[in-house]
Amino acid sequence: MTSFNKSPEQLIRPEIRALSAYHVPEPGNCVKLDAMENPYHWPDDLREKWLETLRGVALNRYPDPSASALTAMLRNSMQVPDNMNLLLGNGSDELIQMLAMAVAQPGRVVLAPEPTFVMYRMIAAVAGMQYVGVALQDDFSIDGPAMLQAIEEHQPALVFLAYPNNPSGNLFSDRAIEEILEKSSGLVVVDEAYAPFTDASYMQRLGEFDNLLVLRTVSKMGLAGLRLGLLAGPADWLDEIDKTRLPYNINSLTQASAQFALQHIDLLLQQAKQIRTDRAWLLEQLNALNLSAVYPSDANFILFRTAAGQATDIFNGLRERGVLIKNLSPAGGQLADCLRVTVGTAQENKIFMKTLKQLVQG
Ligand code: PMP
Repeated sequence: MTSFNKSPEQLIRPEIRALSAYHVPEPGNCVKLDAMENPYHWPDDLREKWLETLRGVALNRYPDPSASALTAMLRNSMQVPDNMNLLLGNGSDELIQMLAMAVAQPGRVVLAPEPTFVMYRMIAAVAGMQYVGVALQDDFSIDGPAMLQAIEEHQPALVFLAYPNNPSGNLFSDRAIEEILEKSSGLVVVDEAYAPFTDASYMQRLGEFDNLLVLRTVSKMGLAGLRLGLLAGPADWLDEIDKTRLPYNINSLTQASAQFALQHIDLLLQQAKQIRTDRAWLLEQLNALNLSAVYPSDANFILFRTAAGQATDIFNGLRERGVLIKNLSPAGGQLADCLRVTVGTAQENKIFMKTLKQLVQG
């Protein structure tokens, strides 16, 4: 009998085996404040109209490969400058992957400030690239000189700047971002996943730097289930990145549903506004508790630090009492003792605060 080495240890690349799969906990019946989702449902009449739209979708046919009608609507609702192109992805995650695949070569580097969105690191590894994380300062502001030094040293093909940053919720300084754009010989992607919750954006600055691209998603504005992200930038970059896209990556139900939702964008914008108001309430409430730190946020979540060694107990206590948030403490480093709560409905926020108070104050 021929003996093959059919084990994963033999075949799977070491950098893949070293990864832990992106873990999403099962929420059960918990108040779900872990994943930066919009907590609101659509009113019944809108839901009915949406279902009516879906009735007309021909599932036997492939989707519009360029999602042209949807692209036009996104261009409008995201205020993409007229001279810039758009590329759509199955979530902005897919666009991060396409960007990496387009530039990946052995030894090439993806660089980002840390802590940040974990998929930059994971996708770099999957694409066979090296990842360099540059520590943020203690208050999670960007360390401009350290970033510039790392860019000089590693000449990254891709720099990701989550703006606002996940999990810290803050915006990085314009000065630092501009210097990063000027110093980088590679692409700098400003990831504006949390754009609905801040007035800051680099969208209108596209073209000012020839290596700037802006990434957006509809996930946080209330359409996470559709999986739809967009990359905006100059055509000469996007035409190349488009070649890494699988055909028909935006399915027909997503195209139809997103178009429908964008026709009713006022509702989504109103919800985002409400979330911003409720974020202020939550911040005030958290600040009144005896926590080690509560970080200001331009996003739809708030990061806070518990007393040393308490975070996991508090996270578990909340969970046992029916509230699911995100425990970042196991990541260690600057995130030791940190928890992140997504802004929910006013009712959900109250439940969270009441439960947290019991746990923190004993
Ligand atoms: N960028 C950032 C900064 C994020 O936090 C997230 C989701 N947590 C994403 C991108 C991915 O969003 P999606 O794939 O849902 O578009």
